[in-house]
Order: sequence, then structure tokens, then C-alpha cells
Amino acid sequence: MSNQENKITPANLNWDDTGNPYSKDYQDIFYSRADALAESSYIFLEANNLAERWQNLNGKSFIIGECGFGGGLNFLNTCKLWSENFAQHESAPINSTLYYLACDLHPFNKKELTHLHQKYPELTTYSDALLQVYPPLLAGIHSRYLILKGCKVVLILMFGDTRKMLEKVWQANGFRVDAWYLDGFSPALNADMWDEPLCSALADLSKVGTTLSTYSAAGLVKKSLRKNDFTIERKTGFANKRHMLVGKYNPTSSQQKNSKTMWFQLPSPEYNDKKAIVIGGGLAGCSTAYELAQTGWQVTLIEREQKIASKASGNPRGIVYCKLSNSTGASADYYLHSYLFALEHYQQFSKHNTIDWTPCGLLQIAYNPRELTRQNQALKKHSPAHFIKPLNALEATEIAGINLDSGGLFFPESGFLNPQALCHAYTQHTNITCITNTKALELSYENNIWHVQGSRGNSVQAPIIIIANSHDAHSFQQTQHYPLLRNFGQIDEYPTTKLSRSLSCVLCAKGYILPANTKVQFIGGITKSDEILVTDRNSLAEENLDLTSAINSDITEEFKKIGLIKSRTGVRCSSPDYLPLVGPVENKNYCQEVYKALRRNAKKDVVQEPVYEPGLFINVAHGSHGLTSTPIAANYLANIINKSPLPLTNANLNCLHPIRYLISNLKKQRESAD
Ligand SMILES: Cc1cc2nc3c(=O)[nH]c(=O)nc-3n(C[C@H](O)[C@H](O)[C@H](O)COP(=O)(O)OP(=O)(O)OC[C@H]3O[C@@H](n4cnc5c(N)ncnc54)[C@H](O)[C@@H]3O)c2cc1C
Repeated sequence: MSNQENKITPANLNWDDTGNPYSKDYQDIFYSRADALAESSYIFLEANNLAERWQNLNGKSFIIGECGFGGGLNFLNTCKLWSENFAQHESAPINSTLYYLACDLHPFNKKELTHLHQKYPELTTYSDALLQVYPPLLAGIHSRYLILKGCKVVLILMFGDTRKMLEKVWQANGFRVDAWYLDGFSPALNADMWDEPLCSALADLSKVGTTLSTYSAAGLVKKSLRKNDFTIERKTGFANKRHMLVGKYNPTSSQQKNSKTMWFQLPSPEYNDKKAIVIGGGLAGCSTAYELAQTGWQVTLIEREQKIASKASGNPRGIVYCKLSNSTGASADYYLHSYLFALEHYQQFSKHNTIDWTPCGLLQIAYNPRELTRQNQALKKHSPAHFIKPLNALEATEIAGINLDSGGLFFPESGFLNPQALCHAYTQHTNITCITNTKALELSYENNIWHVQGSRGNSVQAPIIIIANSHDAHSFQQTQHYPLLRNFGQIDEYPTTKLSRSLSCVLCAKGYILPANTKVQFIGGITKSDEILVTDRNSLAEENLDLTSAINSDITEEFKKIGLIKSRTGVRCSSPDYLPLVGPVENKNYCQEVYKALRRNAKKDVVQEPVYEPGLFINVAHGSHGLTSTPIAANYLANIINKSPLPLTNANLNCLHPIRYLISNLKKQRESAD
């Protein structure tokens, strides 16, 4: 993603006397002056026959795609119908999820949405829920989970050019839209929203029977849609408009669009028996189990230790760190979106679960000239953004509550939580059964079912397995080829002092200090690649003190004098490109054979899909940022498995795809992908 693409220009609005918005850029109204809600119901909800279609969902999800989110009235109106439908037909949507994908190039800000929604008191419940989760105006995908009067809704807002965004989310994991709302500005003023390439992107995300509707009956619209296999009919328009269009996708051939990089194509089988096994009870495993459980899967979680969260995820405190990159590209984009997703997730999750989520803010200190340059570049790339604030040393001192020699980047919504409590809270879900004290020894696949051989002589079966046992994924034949690295770290606990208690946000330099928690204070940051060096906890604690003394040496001197309460050492698992491995597990031998032409010509197009181990997925290598990256990774995996819209773009998911190492090794002409 280029620098420019990362930036979003917000809607440029005028408001008329009746409180209706008007786009200055497109010289067009957003909503009918007659009755915006009646118009929305007539053109979109009724024309797509939603009320009737939702009566027979039987637990299945429904996906709506909207081109032009604007002030969100169609979304709110749809949510209202979705929840009313539940009230009338108790068995209808309660177990189903409504996915609402909406694109906008020039989105409203929160204040403008609030202003508009005040006109519609009947939508207050839905508007309040939307405003609580509405994302910052940042290019890319923002996936948000809402519970509306007991009904589940996932809003996937895609800020950017509509056609490009639709192309970026197209994937062969099988998610296809059920109904489209085409609600861009008039074709005469905004032809890009209705032309043939846009309609081709709609067709790629449609299936036989997908419906669409639009207020426009312009010739360009009809022509573009028909050319892309939509059958179109004219209907009487709303209020004083003569006509509108309704349509259905009716493809003449079943030819599938091919991706240029076929090796990233995702599997798309239908799983009828919704039973899953997750191996590993850390942040990766527990969050994945939770996401699957939320969508109706019965999950068995197998953990080797006596208790879940016994290894890296067993720390009493962890920070939610934003790895803000000064470069562009899909991985930088992933870091940022995973951070924003995590903040939103913890804010919602902590409302009903005790995880000690403390959004006290986090300051990344510019502790040397190189770091200062890096921060300035990163800031330039992302500015203006409400989620980062550059601070000079004086401002930083005021916010931190202790004396600081340098300023840095402040992340006001960040903070810390208790990872161990988080894992426990995830596994309280009624659909999750934990089997602890059991090591998964071997995985075998027979008669379309995976069998996990447990260390206590037990065996567990399910059609799918998610391997989330960190670097120990190497113990399974199917995943031993992945390059997983181990790094050791330690977090130390000290009694608080008068000075340390005045610290009011998390401070990070090479090491980090957390604000006091009742009587104790945590510091950390040390990283060692050699296990032998980790045996002496006291010397590691000294190194942690050295690292954090660059933040404020008075505090660390006091800690030295009082002495350590205790330490906790653990292993961080990462991969060579520092991104996690999340996705389906490829069959190594088969894929090496299929893609062997890449050894001779790294640029060759190999138009063949990978073969995966059926129903086998992996979620490992979250490095030192498990709290930031596991929420989106777990959500992403569950959506691949459920064939639902993903919270990431194709480019993001290619960065996480486990097969990337096999492909890059082939391209480097290595004989084996080990
Ligand atoms: C000292 C330290 C401080 C850290 N601080 C932070 C922080 O502040 N913020 C942050 O975001 N991240 C932090 N991290 C990183 C974070 O803890 C990790 O990214 C995260 O915990 C990884 O979770 P995981 O589930 O992949 O691995 P783990 O938590 O290690 O879980 C893997 C689980 O699999 C189990 N297992 C292994 N093999 C088997 C088997 N064969 N069968 C059954 N079970 C098996 C293990 O027992 C373990 O419970 C820190 C890490 C360390 C070590």
C-alpha cells in the first residue's frame, strides 16, 4: 500500500436546514429529502426481499455488500430489520450472523454520523452500537463485532476506492455476498462506482441467486451489470423517481477467477460437523477456540501442562504494543490493523470478563537519534491519526507522571492486561472443553477425520485441527518444515516505591515499565536467543534493569535497592520475517512438486492451487506481540473455516500464509523447504 493509499480523505459535507448532509465534492445529496428511512427500506431492504429470506436461515449467516456507506442509514435500518425479525421469529437470526461489508472512499467522521443519526430516534439503539465501534478514518479493512438486541452483526468497513477494496477482499475461501446495495452518488457524477470493472468485482464476489438493488436506472448501470451476468429488471422508483433497478446474479459459465499467486489460494470446503480440536492453550489457541466457539463450533482444546496459559501466555501482565512501521506494504499494514483490532476487541471483551484491561496509554520513547528518526518517519506516514500523538520531553513527563529526558510517540488508547486471565476468560465459553495435562503426540487423518493421539492414552477426533502450540509445532510431521525461532524473555516483579507509583502510563524504550498495580510493578524487555543464558534469572533481572534505566534511572535504582519479588521466564516463538504463521497447512511434498518450476524461474505463473492437509490449520509465531496479533489472527482463521468475510486484505493474508516459506525457498532455488 503506497503512502497515498494509506490516507483517506474524509467526506466533505454541507448540512442543509433540515439536517441533511450534502457532498460538496460530488455536488449530490446522500439521502432523499422526502423520507430517507422509507427510501432505504423500499430500495434496499424490500427490493432484496430480506425479511422473507431471513425467515429460513436456520443458523446460517447472511452477507450484505454495500457500495457507499455514507452516513450509515442503510446499515442501521438493516440492523433494525435483522433484530426485529428475530423478535418475530425466535428461531430466525439469533444463531446466525449478519455480515455487512461496506465500502467508502470518503467516510463520515464520528461527529458527523452522530449529528445525522440524531434525526432518527427510532435508530438510536443501533446508532449507539455503531458509534461505539466506529473505526478511525484509516484506509483498509476494519472489522467490528456488534450484538444488537441479542443478534450478531459483523460490520466490515472498507475505507478506500470501492473497486480496489472489493478486489482486495476477493478470496477463494468461498465467501460470497447474498445481497448488494448499490448506493453510490449518481452515475452522472461518479461513474467509477457503476462502471464495468466495478460490476465485474461485484460479480466475482457473487454466487448464483445473489440479488442487488439500486435507486439508479441509468443506462450505464444496466449495461455494466448485464455485461457481468446480472439479470436486471426495472421497478417503480421511490417517491418522485420513476424507476429503480433490481437484479440477480445468473452466471452463464461457472468459470472461477484465478489469482495471480495461486499458492495463496485458501481452501473452501464446507464443514457439516462443527467440531474442532485446538492444540495449545496459550493466547493463540485460546483465542482461536473462542472465535470458533462464538460461531457455533464445539471445540476441544488440548493443553500439555496442568493449566492453560502455562507458557509464554502465562505472564501476569502484558502490553498491547503497536509496531508502527515507517515503511509501506502489507506487513506494515497488518501491524497497524492488528493493533486497532486488538484495542477494540479488549474494550468489548473486558466489559463482560475480568482481564484487568487498563487502557492507560503507552509511550514509545525516542531513546536515541535513530529511534527518533524512525518515529518521525512513521508519524509522517500515518499523520493525522487520533491513535498516535507525538510528545516532546516536557509533554511526555506530564503525561507519564515521572521525569523523562526524551519525548516519543504516545498511543493514548493502548495499555496492559493480564494474559493469563484473558486465556482463562476465553475458555469459559460453553462450547469449549479443555483437556489439560495431555500432550498431543501425533496427528493422523483417516476417513475424513483427524485423530489426535494424547499422551495419556486418550484419542480425540474432529474434522478440523488448529495447531497453536507455538514452537512445539515442530513435533508434528505435518508442520515440522516451518521455520520457527525461539527467543527467551523475562518479566520481573518489584515492590512499588513512592516514585514508581506516580507513573501513569506504560513506558517503552529497549525495556518497558508498567504503571503500578496495587503493590507491585512489572518491568521487562530482555530477549535472548540462547537457552543457556537464561538459567540465571537474577542476571537477567539485572539486564532488564539496565534496559529500563534508559527510561528513568531513579526508578530502577530504587528497584535495585529494594530487590526483586519474583521473575517469570518464557519463550517467544517467531518466524524469520517476524510475522506469524496463520492459515491452512499445505502438504509440503505435493506443493514442492507442483511449484518446482519456481526454482528455475521465480517469476513463473503456476496456475495450480496448493494441496492442503484437509482441515488442518496453524496459528503460531506471534513473537513478542501476541496480545496485539492474536485477536485478529484468531478471527481471521475462524472466518476462513466458516467461509465468512475476512478481516484482512488479500495482501495481508498472503503475508501470514504459512506456505510463504515453502514458496520463497523454492524461489531461492533451495532444494528443500526446510
Ligand atoms: C517474558 C515475556 C514477556 C512478554 N510480554 C509480552 C507483552 O507485553 N505483550 C505481548 O503482546 N506479548 C508479550 N510476549 C509474547 C506473548 O507472550 C506471546 O506472543 C504469546 O504468549 C504466544 O502465545 P502462544 O499461544 O503462541 O504460545 P504459548 O503461550 O507458549 O502457548 C503454547 C501452548 O501450547 C502448549 N503445548 C505445546 N506443545 C503441546 C502439545 N504437543 N500438546 C498440547 N499442548 C502443547 C504449551 O504448553 C503452551 O501452553 C511476551 C513473552 C515473554 C516470554
